[in-house]
Amino acid sequence: MTARIIDGKTIAAELRARVADEVARVKREHNLLPGLAVVLVGNDPASEVYVRSKHTQTQAAGMASFEHKLPADVSQDELLALIARLNRDPAVHGILVQLPLPKGLHTETIINAIDPAKDVDGLHPHNAGRLAGGFAALSPCTPLGCIILTKSVHASIEGMNAIVIGRSNLVGRPLLQLLLNENATVTIAHSRSRDLPELTRRADLVYAAVGRPEMVRADWVKPGATVIDVGINRLPTTEGKTRLVGDVAFEEVRRVAGAITPVPGGVGQMTVACLLVNTLRAACAIAGAPKPAV
Ligand code: NDP
Repeated sequence: MTARIIDGKTIAAELRARVADEVARVKREHNLLPGLAVVLVGNDPASEVYVRSKHTQTQAAGMASFEHKLPADVSQDELLALIARLNRDPAVHGILVQLPLPKGLHTETIINAIDPAKDVDGLHPHNAGRLAGGFAALSPCTPLGCIILTKSVHASIEGMNAIVIGRSNLVGRPLLQLLLNENATVTIAHSRSRDLPELTRRADLVYAAVGRPEMVRADWVKPGATVIDVGINRLPTTEGKTRLVGDVAFEEVRRVAGAITPVPGGVGQMTVACLLVNTLRAACAIAGAPKPAV
């Protein structure tokens, strides 16, 4: 058996096209131009690539994109002052502070300063708490993408056994809540979990969000399970370059799983597409317009 490959690239492109249609509609019907502000502090090369891709895709969807680049030695007060300005700016509906922040800046204080209505990364405690309580919330983009990819395989995941490996605020914890909202039965595993291969083998849905190259092996996976690989690990090649691998040993697991996401070309593609969805939803909510159809 060989698993169906879940094509994140195509699914993300379809989602971006639906967002662009809705952006055109809200402009026409409500005179509303959704705007996303991205704040990049310092010059971490990976963060620069992500920010550039967010800028390009935001503009391609017909939304306004505002980039704020600050030096690595910016003071916490200056960064907080920028966030306060963006909170007040009526052209800005989404604010994203690119993480990780340079040392010396207190991430929690910065995230807590963002207006929860504009918190399109879904990391503010207000949104995390609402999500945990089962209420409508802006939810983190990568877990939202994982759910969409899962639903490209299973129309309903009600009653299915899911395992989420990793419990970060960015991925594992919100993914647990989104899966619960879909009525899956969820196990959440982490570095202290015992007998992870055995726990994983029980799952119909496997989500790996750890940051350890190819940790999930073929004999961890129940035949036919759906495997969503969140991990992005850069490994050196013999030519002195780097290649991306996930947290799942793709070549061997694809022979056991029913469906699997590749790295690259899987979850990573969905994250920015879901950021556009969140920005559109935030803009409609702030403007008092009806919920968009994405
Ligand atoms: P974190 O480092 O914040 O969290 C990693 C989690 O994995 C922790 O909960 C940790 O457990 C757990 N863990 C570590 N080692 C083990 C182990 N041996 N067995 C079981 N669990 C373990 O990472 P993130 O959640 O931010 O990211 C996870 C991965 O996803 C990374 O590769 C990252 O690059 C990628 N990523 C990809 C995105 C995308 O768009 N595709 C977006 C965000 C992240 P504990 O809590 O006990 O320490």
